[in-house]
Amino acid sequence: MSAEAITISREFPVNPHVTSLIDGESIRPKAGGEDFPVGNPTTEQQISKLREADPEEVDAAVRSARRAFDSGPWPRMDINERKDICYSIRDHLRKNAEELAYLECLNTGLPLHSVRVHVQRMARNFEFFAEVASTMHGETYNQTKGYLTVVTREPKGVCAAIAPWNAPLALASMRIATVVPFGNTCVLKPSEYTPLSMRRMVEIFHEAGLPPGVVNLVNGRGAVTGNALVSNPDIDMIGFTGGTITGRAIAATAGRNLKPIALELGGKSANIILESANLERALDGALAGIFGNNGQQCLAGSRILVQRSIADRFIEQFVARARQIRLGDPRLPTTEVGPLAFRQHMERVLSFVQVAEADGAKLLTGGKRATRPAQGWFVEPTAVLAPHNDARVCQEEIFGPFATLLTFDTLDEAIAIANASKFGLVNYVWSDDLKAVMRCSQEIRAGTVWVNTPMMRELRAPFGGYKESGIGRDGPTSSIEFCTELKATIIPTADAALPRYGA
Ligand code: NDP
Repeated sequence: MSAEAITISREFPVNPHVTSLIDGESIRPKAGGEDFPVGNPTTEQQISKLREADPEEVDAAVRSARRAFDSGPWPRMDINERKDICYSIRDHLRKNAEELAYLECLNTGLPLHSVRVHVQRMARNFEFFAEVASTMHGETYNQTKGYLTVVTREPKGVCAAIAPWNAPLALASMRIATVVPFGNTCVLKPSEYTPLSMRRMVEIFHEAGLPPGVVNLVNGRGAVTGNALVSNPDIDMIGFTGGTITGRAIAATAGRNLKPIALELGGKSANIILESANLERALDGALAGIFGNNGQQCLAGSRILVQRSIADRFIEQFVARARQIRLGDPRLPTTEVGPLAFRQHMERVLSFVQVAEADGAKLLTGGKRATRPAQGWFVEPTAVLAPHNDARVCQEEIFGPFATLLTFDTLDEAIAIANASKFGLVNYVWSDDLKAVMRCSQEIRAGTVWVNTPMMRELRAPFGGYKESGIGRDGPTSSIEFCTELKATIIPTADAALPRYGA
């Protein structure tokens, strides 16, 4: 591949040994610790290694966050000063956008053009939640004669933030941006598969002026580093983005320790294509909904429900377009789908072809490891036609470029199928019939209903899932609720009569 074809402005250095970052300092690896390889899914090569943080190191990170919260400047700072630092983070993220995008593209296989959008979004997250923190307000009550009651909001404390590998910058930054501007501190544990952009992101926070200890980073496996973090008694809350099985385990730990928890989990979102839709746009939207971000996204429209009257035409065109999707080096502007993030994940995605066929589904296209490019964890864009919604490919999150199509006759049936899922993260509907759209909006049990658009994240609106897709929402109102404590201070306005024990 010619160097000119790659659009990055330049190559950036890769940290050869990723370690924790605690109290603003890079931690030197201790003798006898465990290292894990960090890979490039496009070349299948190891490009770095990661030092796992053991429970002792995790404890040091929590103590740092605790100190920064209990006695550091961050929660005590004038809100304008804290806001200025969040704005400085925004500006530094923009300034270093190309480096962050490059590192994430290298390590995850996400197309560079997608990650560039994620980085711009990260910058907006810090700007937006700094504004939310600076405009939040309390309440006063003076109805009870002789008393003034003032209700104030205070930061909640130390957050354990856990992030997945599919879009580390977008998802980890969302966790941090909804927590830190309110005066909280945190310890972030990203996935051990994708630590490169995470480590650089936390360095950039410090370069932007974030005081030491406010954001600490520990790396390692979920069962070791993640578990040590979420079970640490000195944290005050847990924010988790990842799979439903892990979410359940973390919620159990949180329950034992009585820690509040926000969970952003998986999905198996229905994408309803009605005969009243603009079919060309619905086709574009359905393809983007399942093949965007390599199909590795919680909000993928992975169950495509097509009304029978238009099904033959729609499915034929969907398959023809899926066959033309350009796989390739994720740094190339022409690449539409990159490699999956790591080998075991690619194998898991491919295993769903047998699962589909065992349930009577028909393979329409794809279903194999791609041969072009010859190297890398590439999966051919895949589509299957399922016989019914109980098939495993309709119920389980596959998390790759793997579309499951189903047909239906009536809107009632489509809504019933959409709701017959343990998940409820997002749903899509394509139709120009307002009444049909409104019925979907009212009757579908999911946190977001996207109408005639593949995915539009409105930061001002809550985002999160019904059912097994999560607990809580990211968004101004819900993040204030989750990240702050309410305190009522009751002040008599005149001397009230007091009981005089022992007088
Ligand atoms: P996992 O649930 O496997 O892991 C998520 C994170 O949790 C990783 O950092 C993981 O570490 C860590 N972890 C695992 N076990 C524990 C534990 N016992 N205690 C603490 N931490 C632990 O998810 P994936 O990384 O595979 O991400 C894919 C999933 O994330 C999909 O299901 C997807 O739908 C969901 N997701 C949800 C989103 C949403 O907003 N609703 C957005 C994006 C993804 P390790 O990597 O070492 O296992």
